[in-house]
Amino acid sequence: MKLKPADRNAFEKMVPGAITGPGFLGDDARPPEEIIAEDEQEFARLGLDFETVADALEALRAAGERGLGEPVTEGRLLVQTGDARGMLPCPWGDGLHHKNAVSVRPVELAEAACVEGEDMLVFSDLSIHLLRAHHFCQGRGSPFRLEPELIERLLGGRLR
Ligand SMILES: [Zn+2]
Repeated sequence: MKLKPADRNAFEKMVPGAITGPGFLGDDARPPEEIIAEDEQEFARLGLDFETVADALEALRAAGERGLGEPVTEGRLLVQTGDARGMLPCPWGDGLHHKNAVSVRPVELAEAACVEGEDMLVFSDLSIHLLRAHHFCQGRGSPFRLEPELIERLLGGRLR
């Protein structure tokens, strides 16, 4: 696949230490364009829409912010939002986003029992932007990966 220069530039900034310490790719061996293509297929298979999911994540972030660091119950979910410390640029160079961390988990699961990425979604304003604007859910093993299956399991009822 021939990459657009803008994409090639962005992908170079996803490695550890470029924009964030861990980078955006986790331990995923696939190139970013493949991660994006396969997650687009996953979204289609699950009947998810990028805009709708991004809106739902923004609504959960806003709900979490009302807890001022304490977990907030949102239906069957617990949402917790940490402080925003500084800003992060999008690897595509089209904006700056708060460096925050929002976690969403089922209300019945104790935090200690949660496995990040399996039971709990963790995302930032940049994650929401990457999902909405670039259809990029990040690589497997990235702490901020938005796994489509997990999005469906946790948010499915809010999306349709
Ligand atoms: Zn962007």
